[in-house]
Amino acid sequence: MSASRIVLLGAPGAGKGTQAAQLVEQLGIPHISTGDMLRAAVAAETSVGLKAKALMDAGQLVGDDIVIAIAEDRLGEAKKGFILDGFPRTLAQAEALDGLLEKLDSSLDCCLALTADTEAVVERLLKRAEIEGRADDNEETIRERMKVYGEQTAPLLAYYRERGLLVEVSGMGTIEAVLGRVLGALDA
Ligand code: ADP
Repeated sequence: MSASRIVLLGAPGAGKGTQAAQLVEQLGIPHISTGDMLRAAVAAETSVGLKAKALMDAGQLVGDDIVIAIAEDRLGEAKKGFILDGFPRTLAQAEALDGLLEKLDSSLDCCLALTADTEAVVERLLKRAEIEGRADDNEETIRERMKVYGEQTAPLLAYYRERGLLVEVSGMGTIEAVLGRVLGALDA
């Protein structure tokens, strides 16, 4: 059986959003991106958006309580499966996710980690900055996001490895090459 409840892990710029968009088409399950949901909240100037904006612009993480609440809302609707992108990002969020899924009588099938070379991903993000103009895609913030990833999110690799859920795939190369590796790893 192929995986349908998937957490995507990887440094900023490793290609999580890009691969998630491909997987949505291949597997027919929704893409749940806390980054996209937070950007929508910022654009709509909701109370969550107002709290999140300064943190996001500085490359810092938004509080666990806020992201756990928005993830919970979306997960409840994703009965057939999901691709979680950008959540969990801390150990507290990973533990909360396990609890949320348990409440839904569900569990994760796998954590797919995209590995990438730091300088290559900084290059990718700087290029994305020119195209999309995201507020957090400038060099200083990108370096801060990398640091936050290393300190707060990278420990999740061990968390999922210990649970036998971790699958690591190289995120380097073309989108198609990475997708081929991802599908192979998911047995999809
Ligand atoms: P990236 O391209 O860096 O992987 P995302 O688009 O996933 O970034 O998220 C952008 C920003 O939104 C993050 O730098 C962070 O401030 C905030 N954010 C997104 N998801 C989370 C989360 N699970 N916990 C805390 N903050 C988050």
